Amino acid sequence: MVLGIAPWNAPVILGVRSIALPLACGNTVVLKGSELCPATHGLIGEALQAAGLPAGVVNFVTNAPADAAAIVEAIIAHPALRRVNFTGSTKVGRIIAQVCARHLKPAVLELGGKAPLVVLADADIDAAVDATVFGAFSNSGQICMSTERIVVDECIADDFVQRLAARAAALPAGDPRDLAGAPAVLGSVVDRATVERCNALIDDAVAKGARVVCGGKAESLIMCATVLDHVTPQMRIYREESFGPVKPVVRVRGDEAAIACANDNAYGLSAAVFSRDIARAWKAAQRIESGICHINGSTVHDEAQMPFGGVKDSGYGRFGGKAGIDAFTELRWITVQMAPRHYPF
Ligand code: NAD
Repeated sequence: MVLGIAPWNAPVILGVRSIALPLACGNTVVLKGSELCPATHGLIGEALQAAGLPAGVVNFVTNAPADAAAIVEAIIAHPALRRVNFTGSTKVGRIIAQVCARHLKPAVLELGGKAPLVVLADADIDAAVDATVFGAFSNSGQICMSTERIVVDECIADDFVQRLAARAAALPAGDPRDLAGAPAVLGSVVDRATVERCNALIDDAVAKGARVVCGGKAESLIMCATVLDHVTPQMRIYREESFGPVKPVVRVRGDEAAIACANDNAYGLSAAVFSRDIARAWKAAQRIESGICHINGSTVHDEAQMPFGGVKDSGYGRFGGKAGIDAFTELRWITVQMAPRHYPF
């Protein structure tokens, strides 16, 4: 049996991901739903039940927030439980890693991110802007692979920032169910805490010299796309995951400085590099400390057959591809002695 713990931010995709490959590898599964979307996660179990899976193959557990630690430990400790996967914050991921270590159960940990999108001096600026707008503001920035740091060579930064600000400012924010105007790209964020965290990141950055080039602090859960220019390492948003639609631009001089800036972070999930010279971009991509790096593409990109996962504080292990099969199966060695064997005694 495999335990899957999935977060709320892409409830169907990440809920299904936590159990699909383990099931395909022949395991039974327990999906522990997020306290923020238990009904949606529950529907995954119901759909699989309705599709005819035998009783006991897919199991679903929910809990009150205060009971999470005890329930998760009880499941991990159970002798029938062989492996764990957790998608969520680095803070809780560390706790899960410790519990798994105590019970000697292997885990795949898909944790937070602070994905850099690096724009080298010879990049196609419009292509880089398009990828940034999509990667930074899809799902209002509430994606682990969201573009969280825009690292731009200073020789093209003015042009890039101007085009980015114009595109981002034009993104409609509102209730996606309201069909009267242009369909909203930025809907409501998950909770008030997100608004407060993002507003505090803006205050801190502006107080230390950053410039708001579009958007700004939010009053309600409908948050506009916000870009902060001239962000420096002294500002909280340089290092901390915003997990909202507030994005920093860091200006650097040359490829070496761009790579150093991309690596100057505790996280290492996704990344992107833009350059018209693929060999130049490839060299940078090889040196960026992340589990995933896309050349001339968005940081937000996943395919079921590819090995998805991070390094550093973004966790360990991989979903998808052959690496995912390794994560949810046991490699064993079985022998058959075909002829009498000579033993030394
Ligand atoms: P979270 O870490 O708060 O996860 C909550 C889950 O952890 C819940 O199921 C909860 O019951 C459980 N939990 C809480 N305290 C626990 C404890 N002491 N012991 C055991 N379990 C406990 O994360 P979230 O807010 O749901 O998700 C947002 C985070 O997830 C972001 O940091 C984001 O980057 C990350 N994320 C990562 C990926 C990825 O693939 N790497 C994908 C999506 C989201």
